[in-house]
Amino acid sequence: MPKETLIIENITVTLERKNIKNMYLRILPPNGDVKVNAPLFLSDEEIINFVKSKKEWILKKQRYIHENDIKTPLKYVNGETHYLWGKEYTLQLIKNDTINHVLIDETKSIIYLPIPQKTTIEKRKNLLDEFYRTEMKKAIPQVLDKCTKIVGKTPSEVKVRKMKNWGNCRYQDKRITLNLNLAKKDPICLEYVMIHELCHLIEFNHSKKFKILMDKYCPNWKEIKKRLNE
Ligand SMILES: [Zn+2]
Repeated sequence: MPKETLIIENITVTLERKNIKNMYLRILPPNGDVKVNAPLFLSDEEIINFVKSKKEWILKKQRYIHENDIKTPLKYVNGETHYLWGKEYTLQLIKNDTINHVLIDETKSIIYLPIPQKTTIEKRKNLLDEFYRTEMKKAIPQVLDKCTKIVGKTPSEVKVRKMKNWGNCRYQDKRITLNLNLAKKDPICLEYVMIHELCHLIEFNHSKKFKILMDKYCPNWKEIKKRLNE
């Protein structure tokens, strides 16, 4: 059955009839599109009444998506856009049981993800995350060398992991931890976060003194910070 578009009380609904038992209503990010999957036997009127009865809930959901800028969750499928060091790449899955690392085609801007026959979104995400971790580990020594010369402080070690913040510095043992997603951003962002964390070896908090240090060691840090959080 083809998809139909209905407008119900100013709400645009994409309706798809399928051989299913129940009706499903979904609000999809990033635009708050309304999608209804309905059983073949239901009349238009029943569907319209159903949507009408859910109007308040639909509007609430749409508002939530817009206000919180909810993005479409990544599915790690062919054709999806992914990033490496600030550049855009197209994801291409290749069925493979022997190669287990990501391959990059710079000229075609493709990230090849070799996957075994059976795979889940989570497994594909983990494979790509491991790749980002490797990329970070390759990039860190040079950035660390440069930034320690700028700030004049050296950490005890630098670790990479999945984390909520972009970076973290433990004052007690001078250990810096960096978010592996920095490998998705422009390399200048990694440099900025590194300088930020190294400055914590001088000033532990984000006080005025800390900001003066940032101004000194990374004059355009505010602009980079903005770009990092885009
Ligand atoms: Zn900080």
